[in-house]
Amino acid sequence: MKKQFKNQHRTLESFGYEFLVICPHCSKHAKVTSLGEPYPFLKDITKRFLCTYCGVSKDLVPKKNRAKQNIISYGPNYKKEFISIGGAFDWYFGYPLVLQIPCCGKTLWAYNREHLMYLKSYVEAELREHYPYYLSVESMLPNWIKSAKNRKLILKAIAKLEERLFHDT
Ligand SMILES: [Zn+2]
Repeated sequence: MKKQFKNQHRTLESFGYEFLVICPHCSKHAKVTSLGEPYPFLKDITKRFLCTYCGVSKDLVPKKNRAKQNIISYGPNYKKEFISIGGAFDWYFGYPLVLQIPCCGKTLWAYNREHLMYLKSYVEAELREHYPYYLSVESMLPNWIKSAKNRKLILKAIAKLEERLFHDT
């Protein structure tokens, strides 16, 4: 039986509660989390970087614009003092994600284990529902990830990223 992917209407934002990042001080795996609701639009929520290996910890409260809203930037590049969503780094500090790997001439990335498993179930599926919710992760995935001809290569890359979840270097 062919695997089917049911649209779950998960937005990329819904995975932003935890970012596995490379610690800029010791190069081990570290985390960026929210001390409160993780949605990027919510104001005055402290974001914390914590590396349990070298003990470095940093807090940051995202800056607001004149209208007192969080300043969010969507795109593949990190912008300092913005909440930068859409590239292979955490939204707040801009540290590189642990779960990123070159694949098909691009970079495949995920914020955390749940995000990676979500991508995996999407790519594994040979049957997909049409018309995903327009803001969902699956509707915003680039075409190279959606393309059936890349499926094997992408699943290999995902398997390598899964190993990284267990081997901490
Ligand atoms: Zn560290």
